[in-house]
This record gives sequence, structure tokens and C-alpha cells, in this order.
Amino acid sequence: MTRYDFDLFVIGGGSGGVRAARLAAAMGKRVAIAEEYRFGGTCVIRGCVPKKLFVYASQFPEHFEDAAGYGWTVGERSFSWLALIAAKDREIDRLEGLYRKGLETNGAEILETRAEIAGDHRVRLLSSGQEVTAEKILVAVGGHPNPHPEMPGSELCISSNEAFHLEELPKSIAITGGGYIAVEFANIFAGLGVETTLVYRGEEILRGFDMDMRVNLREAMEKKGIQVICRDTIVEVAQAADGRLKAQTHNGHVFNVDKVMMALGRQPNTKGLGLESVGVELDAKGAIRVDDYSRTNVDYIWALGDVTDRVQLTPVAIHEAMCFIETEYKDNPTKPDHDLIATAVFSQPEIGTVGLPEHVAAERYEELEVYLAKFRPMKATLSGRDERTVMKLIVNAADRKVVGAHILGHEAGEMAQLIGIALKGGCTKDDFDRTMAVHPTASEELVTMYQPSYRVKNGERV
Ligand code: NDP
Repeated sequence: MTRYDFDLFVIGGGSGGVRAARLAAAMGKRVAIAEEYRFGGTCVIRGCVPKKLFVYASQFPEHFEDAAGYGWTVGERSFSWLALIAAKDREIDRLEGLYRKGLETNGAEILETRAEIAGDHRVRLLSSGQEVTAEKILVAVGGHPNPHPEMPGSELCISSNEAFHLEELPKSIAITGGGYIAVEFANIFAGLGVETTLVYRGEEILRGFDMDMRVNLREAMEKKGIQVICRDTIVEVAQAADGRLKAQTHNGHVFNVDKVMMALGRQPNTKGLGLESVGVELDAKGAIRVDDYSRTNVDYIWALGDVTDRVQLTPVAIHEAMCFIETEYKDNPTKPDHDLIATAVFSQPEIGTVGLPEHVAAERYEELEVYLAKFRPMKATLSGRDERTVMKLIVNAADRKVVGAHILGHEAGEMAQLIGIALKGGCTKDDFDRTMAVHPTASEELVTMYQPSYRVKNGERV
């Protein structure tokens, strides 16, 4: 006789939680999954997916302008923010439905409630107060935008959560932060015609990325009219008499804007989850500490995805969920592989990247060959748009392995996915050289950069 109500109880219906619940249920396990908001999690409901739809929406004005160079006359045009929001919401509803259906058809029990750990193997369902038991508990509750309460006026600001549901498109916005979300939304708002200012405390946007990507993207954003202010930060936001907001920076800039958006990182959703009641260890940022197999220090509790703050990306959470299933239910111990994760910033132009940026590769390897190409994309010839594509390969001179690939340009995210396979497979520069080009494409540059642009020896460019 089974001691527990469920074999697996998953707390959190985002990308990681849903994948684990669905796969375990498909194997005949008795699975429950609790979600307090909407199935699909940050990625589907208020992250990657609606963001990408917004990116598409924001690109049309440039398409209309570029059309003239190709002989088109585009007539009068107008944009309805509310129509975009409604269309986006319909698509999100559809996707949420698919997530639910995947769980239901595999036999997982869907619980629309907040769930908290109530004691050993016990979970409390807040909607009813009922307690259930489970042999294994998986915590996949994700994170939330850093609310930055130490800044006066932070309560007047929006985060990415609200950006997806604004009642009207602001005329002007100041965004604070210099990471993925700040940069992506700066481009979205600017593309939609919003007067946009980005304020970032560091020397250059997108810390951690290759410097050629960071500098060239910032310059491209400035050309599009986005005001990018680095080495500064918004220190106070106040309501102005005209109903707008007054954002003041450390260095004395004052912006009068309709909205101020904070994109200052995301924090794990571990508060009030009952984790302390059973002694689950957290790190200094409040993320759940896990071992290589996503196990917490409590032997019946696992955690994965953003709540563990390893790599905050949807595909990583899904991969961690699949490794959890392999390890716990298929007798095939599998550690999530966090090496060489290809990623994209959906700025305009996009960044697609995999592997090491030059400054990190230079610390790790004695000698590097760096291949760098900067060129005008073909479409920009007739459109006359002043833009550049940048491609960069970083090669360890000792064994010729390509250890970093960085692309700034149209569809860079799509390219990063494919070049990610090459790097994961350990391809050398010689493999790239003997790969036939696809002509005419932008990505052919990746296999036709025959001579290094420069070398880096013992950290010094030579
Ligand atoms: P990021 O970690 O990318 O960036 C946070 C930014 O906020 C950094 O520029 C950081 O500065 C700055 N910051 C943090 N605290 C402060 C502070 N107190 N004062 C001033 N600035 C501060 O987080 P995001 O919120 O942009 O995104 C969260 C995560 O979501 C990302 O890490 C990413 O993994 C994921 N994501 C992925 C996307 C994609 O794949 N395309 C899109 C959107 C999000 P500093 O650099 O100096 O520390």
C-alpha cells in the first residue's frame, strides 16, 4: 500500500515544473502540480513569448521605411497598442491551454492554488487549506522582478510584468538596468515610437557579453534614437504635478517621463513557501541550493529552474526537469549540462552568442585567434539603412577549437542556435573553414573568415 497521496508533487506550473509533471505522469506516476497564477510560467505568460511578439510588433516601422528602397510605397499606417495587447493575450491563452492539455492528457492532477510545504512530505493547498502528502516534492516556482524597494519611488515604477498589460502606450519611458530585459524593452518601446532612455550603472550595457557585441549594440541603439546613459543610475522617482514621473539619476540627470521601468534582475520566489519549516537551505540571494542533480539538502525535495538561480533561462529549466526525470524515475543519473548554452538578446539588432566572450577566453587560454567581421547586411544596401552586422569567432590557438561565437545582426538568435551545435560538438576552426558557405547569407561570414583579425597572447592583444 502506498503511504503518500502522490508520487510527485510539483509546486509551480512554469516551464520546468510542467515538463517534470508531464513526463512523470506519462510514466504512470501519480502526479499533482499546483500553480497559483497561470500555467506556462514567466516564459509563456509574462516573459519570453509575449516579449518576442512585442519585438515583432516593434519592427514594423523599420520594415515600412525600408520598403521604399525596394520600390514599395507604403500607405498611411497607424498602430493600436490595445489591438496588440489583445492579440498577444489571445496567443498566451492558447499556449496556456496547451500546457494544461499536456498535463491533463498525461494524467497529472492540476491544482489551481498556491501550495506551500507544510512539513515532512506534506504540502498545504492554500485555496482549501487541505494538506496532501507526496513521496517527492519538486519546487519550480521561478522568480519575480527585483522590486528595488530601497529606491524612493520604486512603487511608482513598472517592471516587465506590468509592461505586458499597460493600458496605453507611454509617450516616453526611462528604463533602469542594463541586462537582457532592460535592453530588449528599450528596443521594443523605441521601435513602437516611445521616447526611450536607458540608464545603466555599468560602463557598458550587457555585462558579461563580448565587448564587441556590447559596444556595437549600444551604438546601434543610439542611432535609432534611444538615449543610453551608462555609469549612472536612477536614484529616485517621484510623481510630478502634471501626472508624469520625475526620475532623477545619481549624476544629476532628471527625466520627466510617462513611465519608469525597472529591470534590475530577478529574485527567486522562495518567501513564504514553507521551505524553512523542513530546513531547505537557501543561498545568500534566497535561491534554493541544489546539488548537481537538482537535489536540495532535504532528501525528498528537489528544485529546478529560476528558483535555483543557476542559469535563468527557459530551456535550462526544461533541461533540468528532463534530467530530474531521467535520474529519479528512469534509473539513469543525469546531471544538467550548463556548459556552452547558446542564448540571444532580442534587441534590434539581435545578439546571438555561445561560448566565451573574448575577455574570459583570454584569461583561460594562453593564445587566441580572434576573427572579427563587421559589414553592412545585404538588405541595408537598397534600403539605405545605416546598420552593421558584427560576427566574431574566438579560437583557442593551441587546439584550434572555436570557444566563442558572437553575432550581432538580424536573426542572430537563429544563428546562435545552430552554431551552438558546432561548438557543443567541439568543432575546430578548420571544421568551419571546410564548411561550404550558403550564399548569399549573412551567416556565410562565419565560415569565410580565413585570417585572424588579431591574436591575444597571455591576455594581451598582439
Ligand atoms: P539581468 O541580470 O540580465 O540584468 C540585471 C541588470 O540590473 C544588470 O544590468 C544589473 O547591473 C542591474 N542591476 C541590478 N541591481 C541593480 C541595482 N541595485 N542598481 C542598479 N542596477 C542594478 O536581469 P534582467 O532583469 O534583465 O533579466 C533577468 C533574467 O532573465 C536574465 O538574467 C536572463 O537570464 C533572463 N532573460 C533572458 C532573456 C533571453 O533569453 N532573451 C530575456 C529576458 C530575460 P550589473 O550588470 O552592473 O550587475
